[in-house]
Amino acid sequence: MSDDCLFCKIVNREIPSEFLYEDDDYVVFRDINPGAPVHLLLVPKRHIRSINDLTADDQTIVGGIFAIAKQMAEKEGVNESGYKLLFNVEKGGGQEIFHLHLHLLGGWDKKK
Ligand code: AMP
Ligand code: ZN
Repeated sequence: MSDDCLFCKIVNREIPSEFLYEDDDYVVFRDINPGAPVHLLLVPKRHIRSINDLTADDQTIVGGIFAIAKQMAEKEGVNESGYKLLFNVEKGGGQEIFHLHLHLLGGWDKKK
């Protein structure tokens, strides 16, 4: 837990948010300002600032997030149409919330 971290507060339910998924290590909720018809944020409960700050201890947590992404894409019905997975890293990479999270974006109507 890091003081004044919005996502820590969401993880700890100090700020209300509807979780689409939760287990011991992760929560998933919808982005408040969606950039796609489906825009989820996959958030490790552990406070890690960004990909730049990963330690050996964090590797399993971050590796495991892709299994959650696969599961959530299926749940949201975008697995077959396709989706993007994105980590913004630090300010120049577009990161605004400095608690690691993976964006899952999809649901565009792309005809074959
Ligand atoms: P990033 O720019 O990668 O740090 O992404 C932060 C994302 O968090 C942005 O897409 C915001 O729209 C989103 N966001 C900010 N506050 C909230 C909130 N309270 N609930 C859900 N998403 C949020
Ligand atoms: Zn945090």
